[in-house]
Amino acid sequence: MALKDLFTKNQTKKKKYATIPTEAAKSDVPEGIMTKCPTCKKIMYSKELSKNLMVCLHCGHHFPMNAKERIDSFIDEGSFEEINENMISKNPLNFPDYLEKLEKDRQKSQLNEAVVTGIGSVGGHKLVVAIMDSSFRMGSMGSVVGEKITLAIEKADELGVPFVIFTASGGARMQEGALSLMQMAKTSVALKKFSDNGGLIISIMTHPTTGGVSASFASLGDYNLAEPGALIAFAGRRVIEQSIREELPEDFQTAEFLLKHGQLDAIISRLDMVEKISTILDIHQPGGELA
Ligand SMILES: [Zn+2]
Repeated sequence: MALKDLFTKNQTKKKKYATIPTEAAKSDVPEGIMTKCPTCKKIMYSKELSKNLMVCLHCGHHFPMNAKERIDSFIDEGSFEEINENMISKNPLNFPDYLEKLEKDRQKSQLNEAVVTGIGSVGGHKLVVAIMDSSFRMGSMGSVVGEKITLAIEKADELGVPFVIFTASGGARMQEGALSLMQMAKTSVALKKFSDNGGLIISIMTHPTTGGVSASFASLGDYNLAEPGALIAFAGRRVIEQSIREELPEDFQTAEFLLKHGQLDAIISRLDMVEKISTILDIHQPGGELA
């Protein structure tokens, strides 16, 4: 080896011309540092977006939020205590590759399942919360998701505190077949019992809340709320269009469309979520009233 091979010459020269990024290059956002908004197409620092609770700084688009971010932004600091965190799915139908997929998602999301449940407080009000996370198997509902939500509802009943759920789901979990569908009935019965005992249920639907989740606990709140722009649907748009042979409106199955048609009580920006939910909890506490 020649001595000169041990070194490399510094090749950086001052550029003579500024580079104007092409349209194609503009969409090539460096992942991690910058994030591009799918609605207004503007690019912002991921850190700033995260600081703004994953709400676009320019147009208010609500990016998906994972369970941890949701807990940090919604629950009073230091009050969250997770329950049933170690429950994991088996493969009751021996569905090919299901266990491997679960393991992969566990590593990717750092979660054991698509829902996190626990006890905490919001604005000083104690409650039980269930937070779905679409990064785990698209937030699909299998036996463990259904069981954890049911146990959370029963915990709220036992403690005599409100139950708040944030939904984000692709629907029932295909790999668990009919067992997934049974979770719709199980969670619904648990909510009915809780409601009969005077329990308060607040459901907050986030993007996307679809299939069996939208058709069970997500729609069974005393308050059915949603984040702006959330897709909330049972069957997919194309399936409906094909069966009724009609073109559906552009905003069909959005939170805004459902609010207009009486399916939702309100749409709440994530930036106002703590304040608005605290107000609802204030009203419903014994002796509570509108401030
Ligand atoms: Zn935007």
